[in-house]
Amino acid sequence: MRGTAVDVVLDVGFFHDWMGRLARSIEENCDELTRLDAAIGDADHGINMLRGMRAAIEALSSEAPKDPAGVFRVTGSRLVAVVGGAAGPLYGSAFRAAAEALGPKPEITVPELARALRAGVKAVQRIGAAEPGDKTMVDAWLPAVEALESAASGSVRSAAAAAEAAAREGMLATIPMRARKGRASYLGWRSEGHQDPGATSTRLLFAALVDATR
Ligand code: ADP
Ligand code: MG
Repeated sequence: MRGTAVDVVLDVGFFHDWMGRLARSIEENCDELTRLDAAIGDADHGINMLRGMRAAIEALSSEAPKDPAGVFRVTGSRLVAVVGGAAGPLYGSAFRAAAEALGPKPEITVPELARALRAGVKAVQRIGAAEPGDKTMVDAWLPAVEALESAASGSVRSAAAAAEAAAREGMLATIPMRARKGRASYLGWRSEGHQDPGATSTRLLFAALVDATR
C-alpha cells in the first residue's frame, strides 16, 4: 500500500482482512498465550481469544458489514458475547468504542484510526480501571496508540510498524511488573518475571495491522 499516513485511506476490505489476519495469528499463537496465562492466570487466554475471533470471523462473513466501523462493531459484539474471561469483554468493548469513534465512513485515514483505537483503549480503562504499569493489555495498547498518533507523516505501513514496535516494547515491559489488575494480581510479587498474556495478544493485534498493510 502506498501514500502517506494522512492521505491513505483504509476501507472495509482492509478492516476485514486485518481481523482475518488477527484470527489466524491468535490461532498460531494460541499455545503461547495459554502458556503465558498458565504462569500467572488460569491458562485460558489463548482459547478465549481463539473462540472469540473464530466467532467474529464467522459473523463477519455472514453479516458482511458495509463499512470499517461495522467490522469493528461485529467483531466487538462477538467477543463480548462468546468469551467468558476478562479479556473478551475488554477487547469487545474496545472494538465497539472504536467503531463508534469511526462513525459510518466508507474510508478511514490513519489519524482517524488512531483516534478510534484511542477510544478503544479508553473503554478498556473505563471498564477495567487499569493504569499503565498495572501489567495488563493497557501496557501494550497505550504506547501503540501513541505511536500511531504521532506517525502523522510517512507511509501507512511505517505508521503501523511504529505502533507494532511500541506494542512489543510495552508487552516486554510487563515482564518485571507486579500485576495490580485481573487474575494475575492475586499472585502479588509472584507475578513478577512473567509476560502478561493480554499485552501479548494486543501486540498480535498491531502485528496483524502491519501484515494487512503489506
Ligand atoms: P481471565 O483473566 O478472566 O482468565 P483472560 O485470561 O482471557 O481472562 O485474559 C487475561 C488478560 O486480561 C490479562 O493478561 C490482562 O492483560 C487482561 N486484563 C485482566 N484484567 C484487566 C483489567 N482490569 N484491565 C485491563 N486488562 C485486564
Ligand atoms: Mg485467563
